[in-house]
Amino acid sequence: MKLIFATGNKGKLREAADILGEGFELLCPADFGITEDIPETGSTLEENSIQKAEYIYARTGMDCFADDTGLEVDCLDGAPGVYTARYAGPGCNFGDNMDKLLREMAKKGPSAPRTARFRTVVTLIKDGKRQIFEGVVEGRIATEKCGREGFGYDPVFLPDFPAGSEHAGKTFAEIPEHDKNAISHRGRSLRKMAAWLRGE
Ligand code: IMP
Repeated sequence: MKLIFATGNKGKLREAADILGEGFELLCPADFGITEDIPETGSTLEENSIQKAEYIYARTGMDCFADDTGLEVDCLDGAPGVYTARYAGPGCNFGDNMDKLLREMAKKGPSAPRTARFRTVVTLIKDGKRQIFEGVVEGRIATEKCGREGFGYDPVFLPDFPAGSEHAGKTFAEIPEHDKNAISHRGRSLRKMAAWLRGE
């Protein structure tokens, strides 16, 4: 099944191909000459995810999906949330965002809870109709960056691994991508989408 994934992020595209596996051929907007940033001006993850999927569908008429992800930190009242990509301001990079997050958490003091979660909302447009899928992974924010795998905030996110896991205490950036995908927010939401597409 051919699907366009409405992203220019190579890390997300690689992960989605691994998560969806055989039976899916993933295309990207650039394959259709769409190289501009896809607008995401909504005030919720769901609005942004719908906006990105609709943008690609309007220009290609093809089956497509988009995701929008937020990191919700409890001691920051759910921030950065929908502002996760631009937490440190316009034009900031992943390093700037993580540095700001660690600074904001340090201001809360050493006894503030470090619990957090990644939440992904996926919008699929199939045969012109919309379906929404959500995936969440619970975890904690590390006190410093660790690891070189993955992308985005992976070096500061310590997912809750099942008891006895060989990866306990590691950030998403310290484990193989395939193992991240098995428990991640994106893995959970995209596997729901794949099951729906297979009619399960
Ligand atoms: P978006 O869904 O592409 O808008 O992502 C929002 C922000 O969340 C970006 O800054 C991404 O880097 C970050 N992000 C999304 N998925 C992940 C992930 O799996 N690990 C770490 N950061 C992520």
